[in-house]
Amino acid sequence: MRFSDITVPAPTAESLRADIGGAAAAIRAAETPAAALAAFDEWERRRRRVESHSALVNLAFTRDVRDPASKAAREAWDALEPTFKEYETEAKRAMLESPHRAALQAELGDTAFALWECSVTTFDPVIADDVVRESNLISERMELEARAELKFAGETVNLSGIMKHFEAPDRAHRHAAQREYWGWFSQNGETCDRIYGDLVALRTGMAKKLGFASFTELGYSRMSRLDYGQNDVEAFRAEVRERIVPLATELRARQARDLGVEKLMYWDEKVVGPEGNPSPGGDEAWMTARAREMFAELHPELASFFDQMADGGFLDLTAREGKAGGGYCTSFPSFGHPYIFANFNGTKGDVEVFTHEAGHAFQCWKSRDKRISEYLWPTMESCEIHSMSLEFLTAPQMHRFFGADAARFERTHLMESLLFLPYGCAVDDFQHRVYAEPDATPARRREMWLEVEAAYLPHRDYGDLAHPASGGFWHRQGHIFFAPFYYIDYALAQTCALQFWVQSRADFGDAMRRYVELCGRGGEAPFGALARGAGLRSPFEAGCLADVVEQAAAFLGV
Ligand code: ZN
Repeated sequence: MRFSDITVPAPTAESLRADIGGAAAAIRAAETPAAALAAFDEWERRRRRVESHSALVNLAFTRDVRDPASKAAREAWDALEPTFKEYETEAKRAMLESPHRAALQAELGDTAFALWECSVTTFDPVIADDVVRESNLISERMELEARAELKFAGETVNLSGIMKHFEAPDRAHRHAAQREYWGWFSQNGETCDRIYGDLVALRTGMAKKLGFASFTELGYSRMSRLDYGQNDVEAFRAEVRERIVPLATELRARQARDLGVEKLMYWDEKVVGPEGNPSPGGDEAWMTARAREMFAELHPELASFFDQMADGGFLDLTAREGKAGGGYCTSFPSFGHPYIFANFNGTKGDVEVFTHEAGHAFQCWKSRDKRISEYLWPTMESCEIHSMSLEFLTAPQMHRFFGADAARFERTHLMESLLFLPYGCAVDDFQHRVYAEPDATPARRREMWLEVEAAYLPHRDYGDLAHPASGGFWHRQGHIFFAPFYYIDYALAQTCALQFWVQSRADFGDAMRRYVELCGRGGEAPFGALARGAGLRSPFEAGCLADVVEQAAAFLGV
């Protein structure tokens, strides 16, 4: 299959009403379990076509945001999407209320029904206007960031473009880059506060209308969390405070010694040694060739998957003018095929994004024959296990990209993965505080951020960077605006990925086999069950990070 073969006709309001709008009635009209299953399969086939269209137009737009045709196609879909979601909710309700539910559930599995139960509580036509306002506020925040023009080192760059300077070996240079970056947030801090304040008020209002105590409960349901709640997440954050924060403080102190600075400042954090960070040795074609060799050696299924991605034109990896920032994996479910989008810029991050997104794509590929859309991808925290674990499982292959610097890359990657955990928890703790006190002033929210920084990032020093020093650091973290309560998913998944790292060092073949098996399960079970099934400890279990800390400390020599 080639990417150019992937086409689906654009839905219209009429075709959507006919194709998806009728699904609920067809499911309700079924007189036997077999007829209900047939109605389900038909809805499934049609919703995949719509999802494939949605993925295609979003991809085309991010591949060239300047192209008016792509923009128009995406806007046309954006306008139809709320109606699609409404029809989907009706179809899910019809499945849940079916008189044949027991037979359907026996055939399709409990997880789909639990996900639908969760999903139908998060939407009601009474909040339809609020949902549109929420997405408008999110667009406003995205556009604010997209319009940013910074002048640095003789260039005009955006907020992503300046980041490569944060890794500069020259300390004064990276400090100056951070000053420029945070200067933009100083100028736009009030706008960020206003947009976020509006979002918090709006979300709190939606939660009340839907009968939730606060937005936090609605936020968890919107994330489809089936088998854990706020207390479990708090237990995980406590584990990170107890076991990882002291290790992180030591790692930062060691980093200061390695860099030969008396005190590690915030602008030093992105540089691990005086020689700078390791970087890969070639361009996209070179990287793709190395990746083929790497996957060929790791596992036969990874090899054939990746050859198909590369030969079929399902990769767009290099940064270019007009391309949206970031990296992601998307998929066209009618065709059972994923696609990887990235913005390679010659730093070590290229390899990390590559192995990360390849992990998502491989899982999607392995799960492509599932009967239910909800099982094509698991919930977000489980998705990130596939991506973050592949970053570790590819460690023995890193010499292909980094040559003699491979060992240094591996150490850096492990160190940064550990250091991420306290930050991920800080972002999550902050949001729990925010939605518990929805009427807080912007000044109070900045205080809340300083409180969580004191708990999770006590080693951090912003020096003369006034905006983050006064509690404004969170303004840069888009997830806080766009996807409430999502961020902890990366920390939960990292905890699983780090266990794969530990296990792969004891028995690589066994760890790889369990990884491939986990990818094949897709979303057929919730997070805890998937993790346990792969031989991992739940992040909510006390002591789940003990082995990781012990082995990582030994490996890193702290
Ligand atoms: Zn990911």
